[in-house]
Amino acid sequence: MNRASLYGCDSYDLDKVTLCIEKIIDDFGGLDNLLKKGKKVVIKPNLVMKKSPDGAATTHPCVIEALINILKRKTDDITIAECPGGAYTKERMSSIFAVTGMSKVAERTGAKLYLDYQQVALPCRQGKVTRNITVLEPFSSADVFINVSKLKSHGLTVFTGTAKNLYGLIPGLEKAQIHARFPDKNDFADFICDINTTIVPDLSILDGIVAMEGNGPTGGNPRHCGVLIASNSTYTADLAGCAVCNFDYREIPMFISAVKRGICPDGLENVTVTGDNLSDYIVRDFKKPDTEAKGIIKLLTQTSNPFVRKLIRSKPVINKKKCVGCGECVNCCPQKTIEIKSKKAFIHRENCIYCYCCQELCPMKAVDIKRFFLLNLIK
Ligand code: SF4
Ligand code: SF4
Repeated sequence: MNRASLYGCDSYDLDKVTLCIEKIIDDFGGLDNLLKKGKKVVIKPNLVMKKSPDGAATTHPCVIEALINILKRKTDDITIAECPGGAYTKERMSSIFAVTGMSKVAERTGAKLYLDYQQVALPCRQGKVTRNITVLEPFSSADVFINVSKLKSHGLTVFTGTAKNLYGLIPGLEKAQIHARFPDKNDFADFICDINTTIVPDLSILDGIVAMEGNGPTGGNPRHCGVLIASNSTYTADLAGCAVCNFDYREIPMFISAVKRGICPDGLENVTVTGDNLSDYIVRDFKKPDTEAKGIIKLLTQTSNPFVRKLIRSKPVINKKKCVGCGECVNCCPQKTIEIKSKKAFIHRENCIYCYCCQELCPMKAVDIKRFFLLNLIK
C-alpha cells in the first residue's frame, strides 16, 4: 500500500518543524530504518534560484535544519547538494546557498555544502523517453538520499513538488538541452518519470508550510498552507500536495504519465495518509499559473493542429520596465531564441517552445505570461 505522512505546522519555528519531521520519520520506520543503507546522507532542497526564503520559491532552511539536527543523532556525514537552473559555477552555487539560508544552516549544523560539479551518467533501465541520465555525482553515491522540495504551482508543469524536484539532479545548463529535446509537455512529464525511476529517494518531504501559488516556480506569491507532507514515494507525496492545492491530478501530465506507468497511485483513495487530516489543509482557492488553460481552450491546446496550438498558448513576454538586461534568460533559453537588444531582452517568438524557463529564472520577474485573450474572457 502507498503511504504518505502529513502534519500541520503553522510556522517555520524550529521546534515545531522538528517535531513534525520526527513524526514523519517515525511513520516511515524511524531513524534506524531511514539510515539502514548507511550513514552517508545527501539532502536535496529545491533552490531553484537565488531568492531569500521569504519568497517561498525555495525550500525553507528551517526544514533542512530540523531534518539535519535529527539525522545528526545517528550520523555526521551529511551533505546539502543542489543544481539550480542556469550555469553552474562554484561562485554562483555559493551565493545561492548563502541567499537561500543554506550556508547558515551548514554553519550551525556542521553539514557540508556540495560545491563541485562532478557528474555521472546512469543507465535509465525503465526509461520511456531516455536510456540514460546524467546527474550530479553525490546524488548517485549517497547511501541515503533525502529529497526536500517546495509545494508550488508551476508555469510548465502546473504543479511541482518532490517528483519534479529531481529535475534538479541534472547538471546546470543540460536542463535547457532537455527542455529542447522534449518540447511537448507529455514527453517532458515522461522524462520526469524516467528520472524518478532511476534515482529513488529514501524519503521525500514537501515543504508546504508556506507554498507558492500563481506563477510559480519563482514568480508566484507565497501562500500559507501550514503543512508538511512526506512519503518514500515522490508521486505519492505529490498526490497529497496536489490535493492540498485543490488541483485535479488527473489533468496534470506529470501525474497522468506516472499513473499510466504504475509509479503513482491513481488517487488518494489508494494511499494511506497518516498524521493529521488532509481535508483540513485543502486551500480551495489556491491559484494556478497564468499559463494554465481551462474548458474549451484547454481542449484546443490538445489539438493536433500546430498553428491553433501555437496561437492559443500563453506566451512569455518581456516586461521592458522591469528587465535589466542581465542575460540570465539568454543563458537558460533552450532554443537560444532570446537576445539582448539595447540592454533589454528580446524574444524571437518563432523558435519558442513555451517551456517558460525564461520566466522561471528571471531574477527581476520581468517575464510576464500573456494569456490568449479568450482565456481572460472565460476566467
Ligand atoms: S528578462 Fe529577466 S533574465 Fe532576461 S535579461 Fe531581462 S532581467 Fe535578465
Ligand atoms: S523564450 Fe522562454 S519560453 Fe521560449 S523557449 Fe526560450 S526560455 Fe522557453
